[in-house]
Amino acid sequence: MATNMKISVAGRIKDESFAKVSFKGKNEEGCVIVEGKNRTLEIKLPEKINWRQATLIPRQIVFFAKKNGIKKLALDWTAVKDLKLGEESAVAEIFAVNFEMANYEFVAYKETPKEGWKFIEEILIIADGKAEIEKSIKRGQLIGKEINSCRDISNTPSGEMTPEVLAKNAQDAAKGTGIKVSVLGEGDMKKMKMEAVLAVGKGSRQKPRFIVMEYNGEKKGKPVVLIGKGVTFDSGGISIKPADGMPEMIMDMSGGASVIHTVVLAAKLGIKKRVIGLIPAVENMPSGESYRPGDIIRSMSGKTIEVENTDAEGRIILADANTYAEKYEPELVVNVATLTGAAVVALGERASAFFTKDDKLKDLISEEGEKSGEYVWQLPLWDEYEAEIKGRNADVCNTRNRANSRYGGSILGAMFIYQFSKNFPSWVHIDIAPRMTATQDEFLSAGATGTPIRLLIRLLEKY
Ligand SMILES: [Zn+2]
Repeated sequence: MATNMKISVAGRIKDESFAKVSFKGKNEEGCVIVEGKNRTLEIKLPEKINWRQATLIPRQIVFFAKKNGIKKLALDWTAVKDLKLGEESAVAEIFAVNFEMANYEFVAYKETPKEGWKFIEEILIIADGKAEIEKSIKRGQLIGKEINSCRDISNTPSGEMTPEVLAKNAQDAAKGTGIKVSVLGEGDMKKMKMEAVLAVGKGSRQKPRFIVMEYNGEKKGKPVVLIGKGVTFDSGGISIKPADGMPEMIMDMSGGASVIHTVVLAAKLGIKKRVIGLIPAVENMPSGESYRPGDIIRSMSGKTIEVENTDAEGRIILADANTYAEKYEPELVVNVATLTGAAVVALGERASAFFTKDDKLKDLISEEGEKSGEYVWQLPLWDEYEAEIKGRNADVCNTRNRANSRYGGSILGAMFIYQFSKNFPSWVHIDIAPRMTATQDEFLSAGATGTPIRLLIRLLEKY
């Protein structure tokens, strides 16, 4: 649930309802010291603090405050400055973003406890000369809140977050921002020959949608097109997934959700760029209507796709979305998808995998990933891999076409999408499967993380 936490800056603490934050704690769990009417929340910090740990400090503060039932916090900014984490405005922004992220919990389906939820109501930053810090905090809060709205969409069960509802969410999120949202239905997609999206959606009673968001932060100039996988539930289709882990597949539209809220955030931050968001939204289900292993689909591009496995559906719908993107003559196209479990096998849960042939873009993404706390790691996209996704009876195959189809799964998923991205001057695919859900040690509530909005927004600003 998105919270209404207030973050304000003032010269001094208001009253004793605020617990002071101290970094001098010795207890790993964080503890509260009570002296008369004054409470102090003590946090233990690592001895040497790098930027990565810096992003966790604000989360730690909120996490332990909630655990101890504290609702109002006062943070002495001088103590933060003494930690020498980096440039003041950058630190203020990262603190605000992560205060918001840590204060989030998905409670929409839970009964409110008698004593109420333990959300933080207010954080007071004690600082002099506050204008600069206030600006950064406001920006950070805006980013954090948008990330939390994205987490709401991802965490909502698929029975309620259908392609139609996802499209409605995009429209609602864009209200008042000037973003134009159009939603294509089945009929529109048939006319445009988007057979790849339609094929994947065939098995479900929930009909597919194709969501188009257009934000014109400037009148002219070529846009950046963000394309997010919107599989609202991925059962695997006829190539059905094992039961273990299947409930997590309600979040298989996390790439799409992140694109929706990145475009909205770009508008809210007034980024001077044209940004287009495209989200092919489908439900991948087994039924008598489903597309089958062995089927050959003629994609919107004209290229044919041989379906080896109906669970490799994300890349199929992205093929049409990328072809659709060509009409915008983009300067950059970014694919965002919970594409492969293989990316999680390769990198664990701490970094998303990314793929690009553009070395300058590679450096920018790596750098902004570190700065934003949205960690990414490049995997290869060498030409040699192309031979492994050639179709036998079609142009391309949706999984590896030779012995052990499991090898290089994340790379071949990227290589497949690349077949539909060759007309773009610059292109990157981010496989966010590793970062879809929070790890236990990052002081976030379990479930969706809202990745990679923090990275995408910086990319839009810096590219
Ligand atoms: Zn799948």
